[in-house]
Amino acid sequence: AKRAGGDTHRYFSVQMTEAALRRLNLENHLRRAIERDELELHYQPQLDTHTRTFSGLEALLRWKNNELGSVSPAEFIPLAEETGLIISIGEWVLRRACEQVQVWLDRGIPLTRIAVNVSAVQFLHRGFPGLVRKILNETGLRPEILELELTESALISDVEYVMDVLTELKQIGVQLAIDDFGTGYSSLSRLKNFPIDRLKVDQMFVRNLELNPNDGAITSAIIAMAGNMNMKVTAEGVESKFQMDFLRNIFCDEVQGYLLCKPLPAKQLEEFLNSQS
Ligand code: C2E
Ligand code: CA
Ligand code: CA
Ligand code: CA
Repeated sequence: AKRAGGDTHRYFSVQMTEAALRRLNLENHLRRAIERDELELHYQPQLDTHTRTFSGLEALLRWKNNELGSVSPAEFIPLAEETGLIISIGEWVLRRACEQVQVWLDRGIPLTRIAVNVSAVQFLHRGFPGLVRKILNETGLRPEILELELTESALISDVEYVMDVLTELKQIGVQLAIDDFGTGYSSLSRLKNFPIDRLKVDQMFVRNLELNPNDGAITSAIIAMAGNMNMKVTAEGVESKFQMDFLRNIFCDEVQGYLLCKPLPAKQLEEFLNSQS
């Protein structure tokens, strides 16, 4: 038993070292990802269930490195947050998304919204509203086209500071959404006072709509509450016809997921939108 314990320990520390090395390697490459032009945005359309047209897009970040290959945002975004690299990466994402959508609008492609993910670290960083204002000025994008997807973790810190930032963002005129709604730790009593325009129902609830009636109940309740509070609801991760029909029947405003379209590089997304109209 003693030897087994020793082996377990050794095995554990080898694993730790591997994880630490991978992390260090990722961090070193991530530091240079912008200057080496390794980042790219993909765009996933969102369908308006009332008009049955694609109304908005969500920008999703992709990172491809020569040595590491494609690294999932689920792996590198947390690392970027821990190392502070998310500040420059987040700025790059915001500028790139606004530039691209303005190009599409100039070409007459009828887009009404670009949703951009904003990490809690980025949101709470001093000067975030100023950055948003600057990028809108630089790119010429109308503020109401831009929607910032915030996570509950951004909203649970110092309530007055959060309120100030949200208020300033609303003064600029952008739209505000809460991403992954229902999975975080924020209380409704706190959220009710924030100027939020949209809730995004996490795919965790959408995934089990067929199997677990409770997930349907939660989703319906979120939609009813949002309606009463003048917010819109987008359901994400919609992969089946059943989920789509279910969400349409409970008057979910918008749906997003592989059933409709995967996130695509700019050029392919443009072809997709053209083929739809
Ligand atoms: P998220 O914001 O909740 O984005 C939705 C994720 O679900 C995306 O994964 C998307 O590709 C994926 N997805 C879309 N439709 C479906 C579907 O029908 N089924 C399934 N199973 N998945 C679907 P992705 O692109 O790998 O991004 C993962 C997460 O990384 C995002 O979750 C977001 O939290 C973060 N992220 C991505 N891009 C950015 C960014 O530019 N900035 C920040 N701060 N975070 C980002
Ligand atoms: Ca999102
Ligand atoms: Ca989400
Ligand atoms: Ca998510």
